[in-house]
Parts: sequence; C-alpha cells; structure tokens
Amino acid sequence: MQTLVADHPLIAHKLTTLRDVRTETPTFRSLTDELVTLLAYEATRDMRVAQVSVTTPVGTADGVKLATPAPLVIPVLRAGIGMLDGMARLLPRADVGFVGLARDEQTLVASTYAARLPADLTDREAFVLDPMLATGGTLETVITMLISRGAAAVTAICLLAAPEGVRRLEEAFPADLPVPVRVVTAAMDQSLNDRGYIVPGLGDAGDRLFGVI
Ligand code: URA
Repeated sequence: MQTLVADHPLIAHKLTTLRDVRTETPTFRSLTDELVTLLAYEATRDMRVAQVSVTTPVGTADGVKLATPAPLVIPVLRAGIGMLDGMARLLPRADVGFVGLARDEQTLVASTYAARLPADLTDREAFVLDPMLATGGTLETVITMLISRGAAAVTAICLLAAPEGVRRLEEAFPADLPVPVRVVTAAMDQSLNDRGYIVPGLGDAGDRLFGVI
C-alpha cells in the first residue's frame, strides 16, 4: 500500500480550521467539501485514460479522456457522505456505491450493516471516502470487499490518518499485491487515544458534519 500525505498550503489551512473545536457544523461541512476536492486532485493522478483526438476550431488536437468503465466512488456511512459532493465535483460521471460500518465503542471493531456495491468491479477504479483512518478496521473491511469484487485499483481518501491505521493497512495490503491500494490524506497525526480517536485529530467527524444523533 502507498500513502500520500498531500502537502499543500491550501490543504493545511483548511485542515487547521476543521480541527478547531470552535468551527461549527456549516463551516465544517463546506471546508470538508473543499478539502476533499483538493485531495481528489491528488487521488486521481494515476487514473487510467484513453487516447483521443478532438477537432478544435483551428485543427486537430491529441488528448485523453478518462478510461471506461467509469470509476466507483464509495462513501463510508455516515461521515463519508460529507465527502461525496467534493469528490463528485471532479468525477461527475462516477457511479456511487455505499457501505455502512458501525464501530463498537468498547472493542473498536467495525461491523458492516449496509453494502450497496456492484457485484463485479472488474477493470474499475474505486475511491473510498472515509474521513478518519483511525484503527484501519473499517478501511481494511471495505478495501477487501472491493478487491474481492475485482476492483482494478483502490484509493482511500481520508482527511486524517493515524500511524496505527496506516500500519494495519500496509500489513493487510502489501506492496506486491496485484491490485494497487493507496491512501491519500491531508495529514498524518500522532497516534490514537484509548477510545480509538485520532490525536490531535478533529474529534468525531460524523458528529461534526451532521450533529450528534
Ligand atoms: N472516527 C472519528 O470520527 N474520529 C476519530 O478520531 C476516529 C474515528
């Protein structure tokens, strides 16, 4: 697995405001949206393209278009929903699947309660949206589901990552795996606390995006 920490002043600026405990839900949502679009730019760097040529008003230009089949974007419920618009802005033709996982707050083990994914992902690139790569349990489950359905490549876009989660994914998806697995994140934080929260992190991403329910 490859990990890319996107190093850019705009990303760092927006992330700093997201982290701030004083940032309220409407601002948190719109900053998440903007941040995901910036991360998506990095995350789509290796997307497959097909050569095409187009007729311009004054000649012919060689260019590319995104290869088919269309990529699949998978927000992980609930917090990943807050990342969908920012991703769809760059990939408006992508199909969207959904996976829901809930984390047991005692054991920190995630279990799947919903999955709406194509049965066959052969030749498709998949982009998983999950704001917090904490223990890595959720992403390990989702990425395994996608690989078992034949995905050609899987890229997870996370606002923040913890070293513990990255290590877990590196072990689950070693570099010599035939399917490339990548994580693109805005920052690598210090560690997890005993409740599995990323430190310093930004708190509960779902609660900050959608309120405490
Ligand atoms: N999920 C969150 O929302 N925040 C964390 O810090 C870890 C997991």
